[in-house]
Amino acid sequence: MAADSGTQTVGVVGAGAMGRGIAQVAATGGCRVILYDARAEATADAIEFIGGMLDRAVQKERMTADDAGAAKGRLEAAKDMADFAGADVVIEAVSEDMELKSNVFAALEAATRPDCILASNTSSLSITRLAAACDRPDRVAGFHFFNPVPLMPLVEVIAGIRTEPEVIDRLVELGKVMGRTPVRVADAPGFLVNQVGRGYTLEATNLVDEGVSTFADVDAIMREAAGFRMGPFELLDLTALDVTHPATVEIYEQSYHEPRFRPAMLMGQRMQAGLLGRKTKQGHYVYEDGKQQRPEEPAAPEFEGGTFWVEPGDDAASLKEIVTASGARLDSGDKPGADSVILVSPLGLDATSHAARAALDATRTVAVDPLFGFKGRRTIMKTIVTSDEAMRAAHAMLACDGTPVTPIQDSPGFVAQRIVAMICAIGASVAQNRIATPDDVDRAVKLGLNYPNGPLEFADTLGVSRVVRILDGMAECSGDPRHRVGPWLRRRAALGVSATTQETPARG
Ligand code: NAD
Repeated sequence: MAADSGTQTVGVVGAGAMGRGIAQVAATGGCRVILYDARAEATADAIEFIGGMLDRAVQKERMTADDAGAAKGRLEAAKDMADFAGADVVIEAVSEDMELKSNVFAALEAATRPDCILASNTSSLSITRLAAACDRPDRVAGFHFFNPVPLMPLVEVIAGIRTEPEVIDRLVELGKVMGRTPVRVADAPGFLVNQVGRGYTLEATNLVDEGVSTFADVDAIMREAAGFRMGPFELLDLTALDVTHPATVEIYEQSYHEPRFRPAMLMGQRMQAGLLGRKTKQGHYVYEDGKQQRPEEPAAPEFEGGTFWVEPGDDAASLKEIVTASGARLDSGDKPGADSVILVSPLGLDATSHAARAALDATRTVAVDPLFGFKGRRTIMKTIVTSDEAMRAAHAMLACDGTPVTPIQDSPGFVAQRIVAMICAIGASVAQNRIATPDDVDRAVKLGLNYPNGPLEFADTLGVSRVVRILDGMAECSGDPRHRVGPWLRRRAALGVSATTQETPARG
């Protein structure tokens, strides 16, 4: 077989959302493609669908008519798996069910040549376990594409414990032929991208469950302050809770209950209630004619001046500028005056603990999240006893320059700090556990999840020691081991080096 010639024969089992996308990019890349589905009509539908997609690419001038015609000519429907006899690689994309997939793999072993690679597009099942049920586990690997395949360039190439390195090399080359960016990943619960993705959606769900904020407010903060293209709850509505929650449970079980992957109770309950997302027209939002109905954001309170004292610290100068620019009075005393609203900007700590520790009057203390430089959207947080008056005054003052402000209840790490720090923690543990290289962790997360930065890049941009401080504060306040700092970040923060710093081999 010529691994990089583009003349390979690729079999695809399962012609659903993923199988048809995989078949399309394989055919476009020059492979001969044999598509099989247990339902013959699904195969026919998929071939027609792919033809339509290729026609659209021609209309949009992304492809020539000749190339589209040639790609269509390389696609054929299989009657049964015996048609895979000449395949170099078969990619399985049937429904996410271990027993079903094991049966498909057994049939593929019987139908294919001994040197044919058997790959699975599973999102969350163990490649090692799938392979273990095969006579030849060395030729089994994960080949994990993202939805919609033609638009998502990443493919994770996953080595099970007994996968031959040559199999991974051949799949990496095939991924390139298919126009993808392949990333080498060791078999691990949720592989690379779906591990890191848990940080975004689980921490967001947990903080709503704790009464810190609302779905719409969390989404707005993550989009407008932290720069994510989609808020976690809009994303969950798109992927659907009956896909995301069971995948989380699978990852949690496979990881022997790693606390960072502990499923969120609220997510499970909402799934059981049928609030799945866009597909049921009701999830974290209601959908009318496919359009998300966002609750209207209340207007900021009227600005009536006031006096603000800003606690000294790294972010005090920026906050003082905002106070002065608003026209409010800046209390420049060493200690807050009796009538001043007290502005603090903690990292990792909740407002209540911060006020208590600094011996500040908690009834007048309002915390402002400093992590993203007070830009885009500002988050203000109450202690458990902050007066409505102090919150209103801080909200109005901070909204004076037109920047939206979101008030939340007390939480160690506000909203954005908490969620981004969890993404950093999980990304760092992926690097620590040698699931992928630090560069690949960042590359895969940006391509597979569309985050503005990879997890280690986030740590470098925000400051590795600041991220460690946030996680330490969160862990101290919550007592939950899911917030703990792992050795990867702790060591890089201690030396003040980049979060992407990788050790050289111990034996030189
Ligand atoms: P899907 O339900 O759209 O398609 C599954 C197809 O498999 C169906 O057409 C079904 O008829 C067929 N099928 C079932 N049993 C079969 C059998 N024994 N032999 C042949 N065909 C059979 O599912 P999907 O969303 O395309 O997901 C497929 C796989 O890809 C799953 O493992 C899933 O976890 C993974 N995946 C899905 C996504 C996603 O966003 N949908 C992303 C990445 C990976």
